[in-house]
Amino acid sequence: MAKGMIFDIQEFAVHDGPGIRVLVFFKGCPLRCEWCHNPEGLSPKKQLIVTRDRCVGCGICQTVCEHQAAPFALDRCVGCGKCISVCPNGARRLCGCEMTSEQLAKELLSYQAFLELSGGGITISGGEPLYQAEFLIEVLERLRPLHLAVETSGYAPPSVFREVVERVDLLFLDIKHTNSAIHKRFTGVDNDLILGNLEYLKECGTEFIIRIPLIPGVNDNRTTMDTAADLLSDSQGLLRVEFLPYHKTAGAKYSMVGREYQPSFSTESTPRVIHEPFKTRGIRSVVL
Ligand code: SF4
Ligand code: SF4
Repeated sequence: MAKGMIFDIQEFAVHDGPGIRVLVFFKGCPLRCEWCHNPEGLSPKKQLIVTRDRCVGCGICQTVCEHQAAPFALDRCVGCGKCISVCPNGARRLCGCEMTSEQLAKELLSYQAFLELSGGGITISGGEPLYQAEFLIEVLERLRPLHLAVETSGYAPPSVFREVVERVDLLFLDIKHTNSAIHKRFTGVDNDLILGNLEYLKECGTEFIIRIPLIPGVNDNRTTMDTAADLLSDSQGLLRVEFLPYHKTAGAKYSMVGREYQPSFSTESTPRVIHEPFKTRGIRSVVL
């Protein structure tokens, strides 16, 4: 049986699929988007999180750490967890919970009656859930007959992408940039796999929603939106496009995982929202 690493389960979500939903966040992602607001989802491993506002600098954590990683040199941290219980202010915790597919499915199925009453279901997000493909597929198979959605960057081998699409009722797919070189500059990977998987999704009939993070000066321009709208114009299962405008609070959690937030785009500008290319092609677009 496959084991996987998750970092959060959230109840009562209403923006990630029909009805009321339970969201599950898988840990680990092969992309490094400069605007990522969940840095604790990037590493596939269990990791230490430190809430610096709670730290009073007493130094007790240093006395138990064998790796010279406490209090804040988290690049040296091995995630042993010894410093957590000694901190008098609860500033330190481990992020990441390893579960079997059976354990996670059992926990999620405990919400079944409530979710079905609202016409809701389960949405699996991340990180990048397809990064733990075997675990994801086993979990999806154990969750029927619930309504199932997965939110993905689409950066996965085509065979994995198809296996997941075949097992969900709804897929959320990001289009971060239509130009491959710019995509690579701001996310660390090119978009060839993603656009190839989009072509399959457009033809397979599964319902899907495209999410476009709007990043000021990166993709909030007419050319990118025209190209995205062109790519989507002959999609069978497309329900709508959802824009997610960048918010400068995106960097709030980086210090907790010992990283600096250093995006190369202007974080002070408000991104432009351009609906027209989608509207002229009969595609509904909304701002979340
Ligand atoms: S034990 Fe807690 S409060 Fe003390 S230095 Fe370490 S993190 Fe800060
Ligand atoms: S969890 Fe990290 S910082 Fe804490 S004692 Fe272990 S190695 Fe040191």
